[in-house]
Amino acid sequence: MFKNNCTKNAVRRKLFYIILLVAGLFTCNPVLAQSTIKNPWAVKDIGTLPPISSLTKGIWLKGELHIHSSHSKESSNNSVGKILAFAKSVGMGFICITDHDNHVDGDIAHNTWTDSEFKSDSVLLLYGAELTTTRGHANVFSAKPYNHQLLYNVRDQRDTVIGRIKRQLGIHLSANHPSGKDNFGYSYDLVNSIEVWNSVVWSRNANAIMIWDDMLSSGRKLTGRGGSDAHHGTPDSPDKATANSGQRNANYVGTPTTWVFAKERSSQAVVDALTNGRVSISSNPYAPRVEFYADINDDGKMDMMMGDNAKATGKPVNFRVQLTGEHIPEGKFTVTVIKDGGKFGTFEASGEMPMIQFTDAPKILGRTYYRVTVEGPGTPYPQVPGAMTVNGNMVGLSNPIYFNFDPNF
Ligand SMILES: [Zn+2]
Ligand SMILES: [Zn+2]
Repeated sequence: MFKNNCTKNAVRRKLFYIILLVAGLFTCNPVLAQSTIKNPWAVKDIGTLPPISSLTKGIWLKGELHIHSSHSKESSNNSVGKILAFAKSVGMGFICITDHDNHVDGDIAHNTWTDSEFKSDSVLLLYGAELTTTRGHANVFSAKPYNHQLLYNVRDQRDTVIGRIKRQLGIHLSANHPSGKDNFGYSYDLVNSIEVWNSVVWSRNANAIMIWDDMLSSGRKLTGRGGSDAHHGTPDSPDKATANSGQRNANYVGTPTTWVFAKERSSQAVVDALTNGRVSISSNPYAPRVEFYADINDDGKMDMMMGDNAKATGKPVNFRVQLTGEHIPEGKFTVTVIKDGGKFGTFEASGEMPMIQFTDAPKILGRTYYRVTVEGPGTPYPQVPGAMTVNGNMVGLSNPIYFNFDPNF
């Protein structure tokens, strides 16, 4: 009996171990386990995308999105009135004065915005500030006053907390000078745009462009914008000059200039255009504007512009890049097309309205984006005479045209 029981127990034990082994095979073997786990993020058909807004009902407006007035402590000779009068004189359509919030303990509302000179009869004024923190800088853009203090109070908190406050305030947040000193050290999921062209010195922006392409390639529909980050104005008298006053002659309002295609002439429409990416950047207010369009159904009519997102059909798309505005009559421009972060091709453009066209078929499944840069002869900016030399040969750049980007990303 005793022996028999022992044998039975041994058999049961063996069976138990076999069951354990088989179960283990199914749960621990990565190959078998993979086949049972569904990846919710796998590339799949994007479904129906929202319709594309009108390409004609709207207005092109140019502006400045990063500038410091005398409410920023390290600026000089740059009153709000001086900045706004200058912006008007060069035909700017909008401006956001973005003073450092840390200089006024986050109280932008009782400093920049209540300045008696904070008004304009022709330039749309955005409400904003530069969130200036130990983890980097970001600009806020808003069509109406918002409680900046709330954002300032959480500047050192986790990104999830900052994201909550940002949503609560209903503001557009934008990463400033993303590489180098005071680089943007927060998650890019917090921002609607990125400063890909900071100040007149174009050559310093290579890393910002690299970060932008990385964010775009990873599915983030992120608008690229410019900002002079100018701090210094013209001294009213020679004795008011500072060691930095010379900067005024090369870097001021509009170096570079950000263009938006807004649905109407209103501050809210400017912010919406920035969020949607119907935006291009030019070296100065007089340089030609880069416009980038696509005809997706081969009927010869353009259906999308930069910032727009459509479902790829697998068929070829006809793209068009054009330069609008004054330029040197014999000017020859080089248009570089970037596809998904890599160089797609270069094209030469010249004539009265320089234009190039190219064709490509965005893949039917998964994301594709195209954006362009335009290099060539500079356009003089008499009010900021030193700008053309420092800027180099960058004329302007577009935002991407997107295919299969998930609007709910
Ligand atoms: Zn900054
Ligand atoms: Zn700044």
